[in-house]
This record gives sequence, C-alpha cells and structure tokens, in this order.
Amino acid sequence: MSLKDLQDCIGSVNDVLCTLSLLVWDSRTMMPAGGTETRGAQIATMTRIARELLLSDATARALEGAQAAVTDLSADSPERRAVEQTAAAIAFHRRIPADLLERKAIQRVIANAAWIEARERSDFSLFEPHLKVTVDLAREYADVVGWQAHPYDAMIALYEPGETYASLQSLFGELRPGLKRILDTALERPRPRTDFLRRDFPEEAQRRVALSFAKAFGYDFERGRLDTTVHPFEISFTRQDVRITTRYRRNFLPPALFGAMHETGHGLYEQNVDPSYTRTALATDLIGLYAVGGTSFGAHESQSRLWENHVGRSQAFWQLHFPTLREAFPDALGDVSADDFHAAVNVATPSLIRTEADELTYDFHIMLRVDLEAALMAGDIAVHDIPAEWNRRMKAELGLDVPGDREGCLQDIHWSSGMIGSFCTYTIGNIMAAQLFKAASASDPGIEAGLTSGDYAPLRNWLTEHVCRHGRRFNRQELLVQATGRPLTVAPYLDYLSGKHHAPLSSAA
Ligand code: ZN
Repeated sequence: MSLKDLQDCIGSVNDVLCTLSLLVWDSRTMMPAGGTETRGAQIATMTRIARELLLSDATARALEGAQAAVTDLSADSPERRAVEQTAAAIAFHRRIPADLLERKAIQRVIANAAWIEARERSDFSLFEPHLKVTVDLAREYADVVGWQAHPYDAMIALYEPGETYASLQSLFGELRPGLKRILDTALERPRPRTDFLRRDFPEEAQRRVALSFAKAFGYDFERGRLDTTVHPFEISFTRQDVRITTRYRRNFLPPALFGAMHETGHGLYEQNVDPSYTRTALATDLIGLYAVGGTSFGAHESQSRLWENHVGRSQAFWQLHFPTLREAFPDALGDVSADDFHAAVNVATPSLIRTEADELTYDFHIMLRVDLEAALMAGDIAVHDIPAEWNRRMKAELGLDVPGDREGCLQDIHWSSGMIGSFCTYTIGNIMAAQLFKAASASDPGIEAGLTSGDYAPLRNWLTEHVCRHGRRFNRQELLVQATGRPLTVAPYLDYLSGKHHAPLSSAA
C-alpha cells in the first residue's frame, strides 16, 4: 500500500466529477430545453457514483496505507495535505445518511420549479411552503454534519471553510459603516454621463472585444474556450480544459465585457494550478463533490473580482484599451472619451438587483442575505416574514422601496437550489481581491508598470505564485497570510473604494 493507490482512487473520483461538470456546462450552454429532466437524473447519478467511490472499501484501505506513508512528511507537504483532506471528506460524508441526500435532491427540483413560477408572478406566497421545507432540510443537514456556535456555520463551511456567522458578523461590522461612508460621499458628487452604455452594440463585435481582453489577461485558449450563456459561469474539467462563458445584450455593453473579464479571472485560477495536482485531492472539493482547483469559493471570487475590478475597471486599463473599444463600436462610442467610459463603468447607484449592482453597493445585498439566512437557520425568523424583512433592510440600507417580490426576495436562484451559506463568498472575494492586489502592487513595481503598458504577465505571475499554483493545498486564510502577511482584512478594500470614489481614507476616518 502506498500513496499511489489512494491517488488512483481519488483520480477516479475526480474523473467522475469532471464528467459531471461537463454535463453541467452542456446544460447551461448547448442543451435543448427538452433535456432538462433527464439531465437532472444524469447529474444526480454521477454525484452518487462519485460519493460511492469516495466511500468505497477500496478507498478506505488505500487511505489507511497512505496515512502510514505520510506520517514523516511535514505537516503542510502536498502529499500529507491531500491525505488529510481525503480522510476529513470521508468522515464528513459518512455522517450524512443517503436518504437525507435524496430528500434534498428531490426538494431541489420541486422548489426550483415553484420558485420559477413564484418569481414570474412576483408572489412569494407561492414559494413560501417550499422554502420552509428547504430550510428544514438545511437545519437537519447542519445537525447531521455538526456545528458549535450557530447552525448556519455548518452551511457556511461548505463554501468557505474557516468562516462562521460570528466571524462574518465581525467582518461586516467593519465593512458596513465603511461602505456607507464611501457611498454617501459618492452620491453627493456630480453624476457622470452613462447614456452611451445603452446604445446599439452588435453582438459579434462584443464577442471579439471580450475575447481580446481574455487573451490579454493571459487566459490560455489552447486549454479553454468562451461560450454564450444566460447566467455566466466558469467550469473546468482539470486545468487542461477550463471553460468560460459570457452573455451579450445588444443594448447594454457592460455585462459582456465585465462578465468575460470576471470569468477569465476564475479561469486563470484553474489554468494555473500546479500540474502535478491534476486528478488529486488538491484539485478536487471532496466535501462539496466538485472538481475544482481553487481552495474556496471566496478565494475563487477574489481572482475574478481582481481581474474584473482592479484591472478591468481601472483608469490605466481604459486609457490603453478604449481606442480598441471605440474602433469596435464607432457609431455608439464616437462621442465618448476614455475618461467618460472609465467614469461610467464605475458609477455607484443603489439598485434592487444584486447581479446588476455596482462595486460599492454590492456588499449590502450580500450582508442582507447572510443575516436572513442565519436568522432562518436559527429559527429567529419565520419564512413567512422574509419579504417584509427583506424590504425593510433594502429601505434602511440602500434607501430603496421594493416594488414586488420579483425585484426583492425572489430574485436569486440560490435558496430554491438549497444553496444556503454561499452568499458570503462574494463579499469575501471582494475583500480578498483588494488585499491581494495591494500586496502584489507593493511587492513588485513591475506589476503597476505592466498594467499601464498592457503587460499583464507580472500580475498574473504573482497571482500564480501566491494563489493559483497551490490549488487546494492551503486553505484560504493560510494563503492570505503567506501572500500578504495578514488574515482576511477589510482595510485595503475600503481604501481602494475610498480612492475610487474620492472619499476620505478609512484610516483617517
Ligand atoms: Zn464569480
């Protein structure tokens, strides 16, 4: 018995999960609507097979041998980490009865269908009984998995290991007043013109420009491709095949461009994982049963937000690339300057829909959802009270009246899919992106020079060295401490937003 036996077992699990991901990619890009039902069954079967392989006697025997083989290795060696993560995942899955997984899978289908109808009719009461069942199942799941301070912690750990509701509350306690201060300043300033973003932008030209930005950032098209979808995403089947997607709106330019940059950031993470981790536990989320090289959802989001916002929304970027954009759309952008465009894509305006929110107001949408999820998991709030509580918070924090449930508590797919606990990872990604970008810029003057001249290799190499190549060997907090000298810290994010919106720096406030 050696490490090799365990690697073979986990290699097979990874193969099944990559195949499953390919089915998911297809269902969101190419599949005709008629395939929905059978595809759901196929994905469920593949998930069950992956879990059975992980929990098989053969894997258990291989694990025992591997554990003996790594005892003399240093605690953070890749081999030892892979073995320990496998052991933890097996112990985790053994705690969850198969019938609970089955009930959750069935509920996902029912709740999703109910949500689609409820959203269409903008009537939460149609979704309410189904959300009740979903929340009950999540609480049952949390109890089976185990939690200490708060049942919500068990759900957060699925997406962002190491975070708890208490740690998020302390993070938000610092973030909320800081964002509010910057937002108040931003809203007092004169508004730049944004009219030209809603002119006519032929799709083919949008696609050409999106491809050119992805290429410029260093996304490898020999191991990737860009396709069209409704809700953009990135997905990979090992680092050798990493797919990204975007969407095109003929009369609104930003989603295609910034969506492509965002997914390119996700793609670069996966493409730059250490090749030797391919088909191992260090490129597989064995708890979530998902083939991924990134170490957490928040860490993943840090890479997408960094390329989308710190690079793609910067002045330097548009000074350099606006001429290309105007060439692609001479009619729509003929009377627009690089500065006009840069200002327009950075404007802050409170809005109702999370996925359309700007950088400065986005995290308010997240904090609201996190608090509601925690209250639901703890039983502090009834499902019935969600719309009222949602609307109250939107008014209190962003000053907005919610006209109906469709623009309010029914806008996200997450709850209908049983995904409770994942929202926090978007805000963690924002905070982490700023922290990494600051450390990168400080460590190497070549990075900023590169951003000005259009050479993105220095930044990409820094991120590969400090984040991507490690795959899942280190957890998110370890990565941050190694890369920046500190655990997750809000200040660089607030400083970055203060600078962009001409607000006093947080350190001076
Ligand atoms: Zn993302």
